[in-house]
Amino acid sequence: RQLVVAVDGPSGSGKSTISRRVAQALDARYLDTGAMYRAVTFAVLRDGVDLQDADKITAVAEGVRLGIGTDPLDPHISIDGVAVDREIRGPEVTQAVSAVSAVPAVRTILVAQQRAIIAASVRIVVEGRDIGTVVAPDADLKVYLTASADERARRRSSENATSHAATAADLARRDRLDSTRAADPLRQADDAVVLDTTTLGIDEVVERLQRMLEK
Ligand code: C5P
Repeated sequence: RQLVVAVDGPSGSGKSTISRRVAQALDARYLDTGAMYRAVTFAVLRDGVDLQDADKITAVAEGVRLGIGTDPLDPHISIDGVAVDREIRGPEVTQAVSAVSAVPAVRTILVAQQRAIIAASVRIVVEGRDIGTVVAPDADLKVYLTASADERARRRSSENATSHAATAADLARRDRLDSTRAADPLRQADDAVVLDTTTLGIDEVVERLQRMLEK
């Protein structure tokens, strides 16, 4: 039987670390849907497309071929055969990604690809913003991770070596855009297990999720 675990939450909530750890423990694949939105955003910026131009952004999303490696120990993403793992984490992409991911046609294209990857996997942990609500509403387990704004900014600023204040402002901006957009906003699925990672350690969260999956 297939096993799908959906992990949603805002940036800095611990999604990636926890999703990868759970995937390893389950001997499952790992899909980072945020990396897909970031890769399309990278191509949009590379092509000099105006971030207000939804039609041109859609054409970029239709035209690129994303290559996605789903090994939780070594996830990868490429555009037309060229690796962009490093580039998609840069400040330019982070700054523009919410605008690109708000374009409904971009979401339609990427959600179809995400569903195809899920359908082809026996066990998979999928992380994003709309996995439990839109991409995989029938997931076996839905997890919604939260953490205080201060803690999320602390985690991200230590990862990116940017100041706490600048990171906090960027996270607040992205959270607002991601949760107020018309198309598939970030939101908790009604049947999601909500875990606050401000005080719970990574190990504790991973153990709790494993226990839930064993039942
Ligand atoms: O998870 P990460 O921070 O890499 O995601 C980058 C951006 O991609 C988010 O801020 C959001 O705008 C978008 N995203 C999305 N839906 C998803 C995953 C990410 O809209 N399922």
